[in-house]
Amino acid sequence: MRTTICLLLFFAFNLQAQNQPWKGKFEPIDNMISPPNAYRSASGAPGSAYWQQRANYKIKAVLDEKNNTITGEETITYFNNSPDDLSYLWIQLEQNVNKKENEDFGSINNRMKDSITTRQMQFLTRAIDFPAGYSIKSVKDANGNNIKTMVNNTMMKVKLNTVLKSGESTKLLIDWSYPITDRSMFLLSREGYEYFPEDDNTVYLIAHWFPRMAVYNDTEGWQNQQFQKLGEFALEFGDYEVEITVPQDHVVASTGTLQNPESVLTKTQRKRLEQAKKSFDKPVMVITKEEAEANEKEKSTKQKTWKFNAKNVRDFAFASSRKFMWDAQAVKLPTNTVMAMSFYPKEGLPVWQEESTKAIMHALQVYSEATFDYPYPVCISVNTSNIGMEFPMISFNGGRPKNGKISDGAKQGMVGTIIHEVGHNWFPMIVSSDERKWMWMDEGLNTFLHQRTVAERYPGWNSVTPKSIVPFMSGDKDILRPIMTNSDNELLSQFGANFYLKPTVGLQILRNSVMGKELFDEAFKEYANRWKYKHPNPADLFRTLEDASATDLDWFYRGWFFTTDNVDMELSNVKWFKVYEENSNIEDQKNNSKTKIAANGSNANAKAKDFSNGPEVVTMTTTPDQSYGQFLSRIDDAAVRKQLSGKNIYEVTIKNLGGLVMPVTIEWIFTDGTSETNTLPSDIWRRNEYEIQETFIKDKEVSKVNLDPNFEFADTNMENNSFPKTESVSEFDTFKENKITESVLDTYVGTYKMDPGFEVKIYRKDMSLYINFAGQPADSLYPISETEFKVKGMPNAKVEFASNKETNKMTIKLSKEDESYKGVKVE
Ligand SMILES: [Zn+2]
Repeated sequence: MRTTICLLLFFAFNLQAQNQPWKGKFEPIDNMISPPNAYRSASGAPGSAYWQQRANYKIKAVLDEKNNTITGEETITYFNNSPDDLSYLWIQLEQNVNKKENEDFGSINNRMKDSITTRQMQFLTRAIDFPAGYSIKSVKDANGNNIKTMVNNTMMKVKLNTVLKSGESTKLLIDWSYPITDRSMFLLSREGYEYFPEDDNTVYLIAHWFPRMAVYNDTEGWQNQQFQKLGEFALEFGDYEVEITVPQDHVVASTGTLQNPESVLTKTQRKRLEQAKKSFDKPVMVITKEEAEANEKEKSTKQKTWKFNAKNVRDFAFASSRKFMWDAQAVKLPTNTVMAMSFYPKEGLPVWQEESTKAIMHALQVYSEATFDYPYPVCISVNTSNIGMEFPMISFNGGRPKNGKISDGAKQGMVGTIIHEVGHNWFPMIVSSDERKWMWMDEGLNTFLHQRTVAERYPGWNSVTPKSIVPFMSGDKDILRPIMTNSDNELLSQFGANFYLKPTVGLQILRNSVMGKELFDEAFKEYANRWKYKHPNPADLFRTLEDASATDLDWFYRGWFFTTDNVDMELSNVKWFKVYEENSNIEDQKNNSKTKIAANGSNANAKAKDFSNGPEVVTMTTTPDQSYGQFLSRIDDAAVRKQLSGKNIYEVTIKNLGGLVMPVTIEWIFTDGTSETNTLPSDIWRRNEYEIQETFIKDKEVSKVNLDPNFEFADTNMENNSFPKTESVSEFDTFKENKITESVLDTYVGTYKMDPGFEVKIYRKDMSLYINFAGQPADSLYPISETEFKVKGMPNAKVEFASNKETNKMTIKLSKEDESYKGVKVE
């Protein structure tokens, strides 16, 4: 009895040869995300008491082209739907990010270098002579009384004259102005003006331009984290009525529906727009190149007011210039027909005319199918010199040809940008997550669908795949941060990979390789629909994807979103067994027919490290009587043997070196050139997070085994994914180095009777020794010295041989930590 226990313990140790601590990679993430409550339910849906604030805006703004300033009068109607009474409100003043006194604010890079371009120096010193930031002329209540305010950088506290009770609304009247920034002068400019000296004209991109309500919600209270340029926006939904006064010859592209086309558009333009509403296959030119060029020369000093209304949007932006060409077409979605429109200066030709509106259409179609139909009447893409930036119904998109020519790469970049920025209408413009806090929530989900749009609508173009994230994920762990890092805490060099690409690849893995398209698409759609026009948090996304699909994804979230671990699976061994029947009487208690299984004891470890040595023989004994129990009649040893006869059994050992648990795809290439794939779910890592063995039965013989052959899991090291291995130093070399001769090895070969009563067999194949504990698969030994060996796969175990001088018999000592067993060779 004692013997059996010791033996079992010893082998139990063997099977769990893992020296690394259990990390609980499959434990629920409940303690890592905010707990559910009445506002956010445990299913991931908005809770029964969910609320959010609302802000309607009426704005009259005047664009002064001569001085590059904008002046506005706005009325905010703020609805307090929260259960709280509010004595003050916070208003966002993003234009203050470039204000002189806020010098250290939003300064992304303050390092000096030996050599620096003037432009970089300009970013570094910021536009020192430029009086950026708001002048707030007045803040009044509905009765015209002044309200006290206090400005803290990009946030303004409005100390209400009367407390705003829960369930009530209040009006704020704010008069303001600010000088529009030259967007080439400030790093990370999402808006501002671009000046064209050739024809002395300007394109104005006007965004985060009017004082806007900060978000007040159940998770943050006031989201009044300062604008530091990287972390974008958190905004409330509302209806807008906006009047924009610009030079008479300007054309305005804006969020919302144009309310007064007859006073701002020519009869011809209106006629063409009507045509465009019925043109579903190609855009109609509303303003042609010739007309735009004529416009450029006009330089009217008179003004004209464009009126736009927008319903249920979280922001409002517009572009204005006399340089704009304009094309438009209709895009029919199941529940909405949208006007897709592009505005661009002639500098964008010809590629903008060819690609922009088409890209809008593709984005509208793919995103609508994946989430919900685009709900707004227009979707606009405006050309800019660089970067892309999104707002409701309108986006500013970089990408211009040089002398009318654009490289393939630049064209793909430009179209990708348009798709991406149009896609932001869903995330975060409608599924309105908090960008200032979690950049990945909108950028990650949006890039995922943007890449899907590119892959589906532009086959042959580059798009993100799991391979794309490998360089980032195999990077220096001292620099890497988890995806679950607040927006402004990420490095400028890293945020693209960490907040855009890594979540994208994570969602691709879930969709293509973990959940499958059907389950994933349904769950993703559920999330989008649950949270449209609302403010979701990460937990709401995590919970919904599980809730809508009956899939436990906590292991995936834990690893992919909360750590900087990477995927690195190693195919450390493949053992080959072959079954054939023969009669045998060795150690055969009942004289039953025995089956021998050939195991590749040698080939897994031999010099060539391949299958060329063939399988090796181990015995398959008859099931002992005590194992039968009440199932005696159900087990037929002979039938089992017959079924296995001639088949190939492969035991694979896979190690998890990178830390992330993932499903494992195994490709078998057979000697006849055919192949087959098996996929193991991530659950195989539940009990041992570092190493697993799995056994497969194949009719055909295998010549090569590969892990993750289709590169689905962003494995950072593909060199350890195949068997036979190609290792630089083989164990054969180690043997040679240790100068152990064949004849010395042969003195160790034999059967040893161990003192607890079990047997150990040592045998040799070429220059390798193998140890076989009764009934267990063979393990290879590799030498530390001429008499001491380590056991492969059992890092703490040691095998020592010694010749007993009195009896002249070979003895063996197996030790592992503080356990050890001695034995004597008996044959
Ligand atoms: Zn984006």
